[in-house]
Amino acid sequence: MADKRDYYEVLGVGKDASEAEIKRAYRKVAKKYHPDINPGNKEAEEKFKEAAEAYEVLSDSEKRARYDQFGHAAFEQGGAGAGGFGGFDFGGGDMGDIFGDIFGDFFGGGSRGGNARRNGPRQGANLRAAVRITFDEAIRGVEKQLEITLKETCSTCGGNGCKPGTSPETCSKCNGTGQVVYTQQSMFGMVRNVQPCPDCNGSGQIIRNKCSDCAGTGYIKVRKKIKVPIPAGIDNGQSVRIREKGEPGINGGPRGDLLVNVNVSRHPKFQRQEYDIFSTEPISFAQAALGATIKIDTVDGPYEYTIKPGTQTDTRVRLKNKGVPSLRNKNLRGNHFVTFVVQVPSHMTEAQKEALRNFQEAMGEIPPRDQEEKSTEKTEKKGFFGKKKK
Ligand SMILES: [Zn+2]
Ligand SMILES: [Zn+2]
Repeated sequence: MADKRDYYEVLGVGKDASEAEIKRAYRKVAKKYHPDINPGNKEAEEKFKEAAEAYEVLSDSEKRARYDQFGHAAFEQGGAGAGGFGGFDFGGGDMGDIFGDIFGDFFGGGSRGGNARRNGPRQGANLRAAVRITFDEAIRGVEKQLEITLKETCSTCGGNGCKPGTSPETCSKCNGTGQVVYTQQSMFGMVRNVQPCPDCNGSGQIIRNKCSDCAGTGYIKVRKKIKVPIPAGIDNGQSVRIREKGEPGINGGPRGDLLVNVNVSRHPKFQRQEYDIFSTEPISFAQAALGATIKIDTVDGPYEYTIKPGTQTDTRVRLKNKGVPSLRNKNLRGNHFVTFVVQVPSHMTEAQKEALRNFQEAMGEIPPRDQEEKSTEKTEKKGFFGKKKK
């Protein structure tokens, strides 16, 4: 995704282009590179997809704002590694939606003929679901079970929607093609405008006696338990794609996919950024000054670390390969960065205070006192508290 062209450049419009300008520009580019006009031309196909993607973003004010702010990165979360989706699904019905919106069925009457495509096998729509997992589950990977409602072919009618013993009739208005053709003058010249047949809703068939189990739809809804394998290293907001667990295909096409969005709960101690983990570890002033061996919490459990004498607060160290495993390569891991924070005691006993005063003396911060002065001070203090109690 790194060498993606700028969406405005793809459509050949300025950054301040109006909605209408973007629509017009897209229409022009899409018409030029449409697969029907450039059969078998891979480059044209790529350009066509590129333009559709650019238009999908720039025609949506919310997506366009995000793109203006973050560029392509705005849509890259959930990258290819997880088998996730980047924000674009050209496999399902999305492309059709874009064209339905902008072209009507202008291309439907093109060189390949609309009939074959309209009634040909098509993949079903994708379904979406979500699961929540813990921070640790995201690090180690986990299998979750989801219960979802799936449409399945009705076993009573075998999916044709007819009462057993009857069969669908061919629609007389469209002769079973599912489409009606109008010729029309348009901005592109004379065009054949193809629309779904109003009598049969584009199916080409009329069902006189509907199957009572599925009410003529050909599908029944079933609750299904589905296993969702979540790979180690997945991040919050990424998706797992489960093939062919979406809506049923049309005219014998494959089912759509199930896209499971993964929400990862926050960890009380660890923060994650990409494959690195960040945390802070409190150390005492004495540990910082003299050095010490301490145990640092990592996702692998406590890790022994030796602090160098004279460590300053906010010193950050890197624990190599103690971070999150890579989705692309299980043997690679990120790092764990630990920031040491020197703790200043807020409550101290008199003995502790005295030790610190001695330390100050040794450091030359306060003038040296002899033993007598020190003991007088103690007595005075006792006297003071004694008076106060009265
Ligand atoms: Zn049925
Ligand atoms: Zn019809």
